[in-house]
Amino acid sequence: MNQPDLVVFDGDDTLWRAEELYDRARDLAGEIAKKDGLDKKAWTARQKEIDLRNFETLGLSPQRFPKSCVEAYLELAKPNGTSKTAEKILTAAQTVFSATARNFPGSFDVVSHLSSQLPVVLLTKGDSKVQEKRVDDCKLRHLFFAVYIVEQKTAQTFLEISERLNATRPWSVGNSYPSDIKPALEANYVGIWVDAPVWQHERRSRPNTSDSYIELDSLEQVLELYRSTCI
Ligand SMILES: [Mg+2]
Repeated sequence: MNQPDLVVFDGDDTLWRAEELYDRARDLAGEIAKKDGLDKKAWTARQKEIDLRNFETLGLSPQRFPKSCVEAYLELAKPNGTSKTAEKILTAAQTVFSATARNFPGSFDVVSHLSSQLPVVLLTKGDSKVQEKRVDDCKLRHLFFAVYIVEQKTAQTFLEISERLNATRPWSVGNSYPSDIKPALEANYVGIWVDAPVWQHERRSRPNTSDSYIELDSLEQVLELYRSTCI
């Protein structure tokens, strides 16, 4: 495999753990639903279903997750749901945006080593305010050649980045096949999918691995892969 001349990293659940912020906020909201007499397990399962459904219309909007929490409550508590409890659930769910995500092990080593060798770019998708905070919190911003926050990652997005940096052998590293890998492969990147504990949406239909599509178990292995191209 050729040595890359650009590495584009995803943020959420690639460099830092975003999913656990959702798990924690869901747990908090679920406790409130439980105090109101609901079965927490049933509420949690319904919240996840509704959240996937709301993804169709709201995508990564910061309204989606809290709305799904409240909808699950109102549906299961019917006809006894109260606006007071709904408000509490909303507040608990919104902590997902104020909490600080923890970096994955090795994120500093991987990004700092690679950025000492070649341009490393952060390409993260989602609400710009939420993402700006997560980029600040990860304390890696100074290592990136550039940081892009976008609503969608398309082949055009990846092409523009590699063209801007005159890169001919770019890599895209991320945990989401539909967002980080598929459009990158279309833009002639090598796609490197890193496994992470994430919702089913990110794990959908992945192809067999090849020279241009690689699967790794952890972020730390990106460095090993890079080193193997230097020999
Ligand atoms: Mg991600």
